Amino acid sequence: MKFNEALKEIKIYEAGKPIELVVREFGIKPENVVKLASNENPKGCSPKVATAIATNAHKAFLYPDDSMYELKDALASKFSVSSDNIIIGAGSDQVLEFVSRALLMPDDKVLMSQVTFAMYEIYAKQMGAKIIRTASYEHKVAEFIEAYKEHKPKIVYLCTPNNPTGDATKKEDVFKIIEAMDKDTLVVLDGAYMEYAAAKDQDYAITPNDLIAYSNVIYLGTFSKAYGLGGMRVGYGIGDISFISELYKVRPPFNITTLSLVAAIEACKNEVFVEESITLHTEQIGRYEQFAKENNFTYIESYTNFITYLFNKNIDSTKLSDALLKEGVIIRNLASYKMNAVRITIGTKEQNDRLFEVMRKVL
Ligand SMILES: *Cc1c(COP(=O)(O)O)cnc(C)c1O
Repeated sequence: MKFNEALKEIKIYEAGKPIELVVREFGIKPENVVKLASNENPKGCSPKVATAIATNAHKAFLYPDDSMYELKDALASKFSVSSDNIIIGAGSDQVLEFVSRALLMPDDKVLMSQVTFAMYEIYAKQMGAKIIRTASYEHKVAEFIEAYKEHKPKIVYLCTPNNPTGDATKKEDVFKIIEAMDKDTLVVLDGAYMEYAAAKDQDYAITPNDLIAYSNVIYLGTFSKAYGLGGMRVGYGIGDISFISELYKVRPPFNITTLSLVAAIEACKNEVFVEESITLHTEQIGRYEQFAKENNFTYIESYTNFITYLFNKNIDSTKLSDALLKEGVIIRNLASYKMNAVRITIGTKEQNDRLFEVMRKVL
């Protein structure tokens, strides 16, 4: 069978390893597996959201409200924008897909940092687009502007805070990059971890409302990280009304489930849960910085719910990740990003205790 030529260029996305795999392969009880690989919320989800899902379980036979009126309304008031500025996706991942399909044609170019979220590349390549990367994993203003002038990309991806590195870009620098682009280039501001950056340092806090005046910028947010709803698959894009309305042409109907909709609406009413999650995170991340210092390796200053450890030749990230896996601790090896590094989601106190214990053992 002859497939779309564009698929030849695509490497399948490597997701964080699931708990089920460790149970199957190493015979470890599920309750003893510590998963710190996918940046899920270690507190789980809000109990109020869990109750709402359970209470509405009997509605599973109904298609969801395709207008998603209530969720868009909740997001509109949260961010001081209009419901018409918003599109909902099955994760912000799906909004990335909409953007790619709406804009890209074969041989168009897209620009992103050296090491960033893998799905930008995959969705762009599906459309036959060419990938341009800056030299650094950080979003450096000069590098972005230079590459922009040279390549005139159709889409520029700014992931701040950045995954899988954890660093963030200052708001003033994001604006410098946006201002340097002309209106035919779309800037995607992926704020999947923005809640964490905003809590740490206001110089890095960017809201959809800050960007709404730009007709060529879309802000992406998600319920998967700080809101603890990775399994429900709900994300959103916020941008100029005429741009967002074009995206609706590539959105399939009923693209999130009835229960996902219930969960996201309830989550919006329960911001206290997000604050508690961030408090836990802030209490725990210092332990990871300390651990790195004690063990003579470095880390990237994190504005996210994870930390990226960088190793020299003495430690091999693949061997380390495999050894931890056998002990029932799942972390994310970054060898596939050509980095001798690992990304670890900051867990609960007990999960972090276990990670340090096992890491001391295998190091
Ligand atoms: C997790 C993540 C997303 C989207 O996750 P969804 O679960 O699809 O909403 C988007 N961008 C980055 C950088 C992420 O880490």
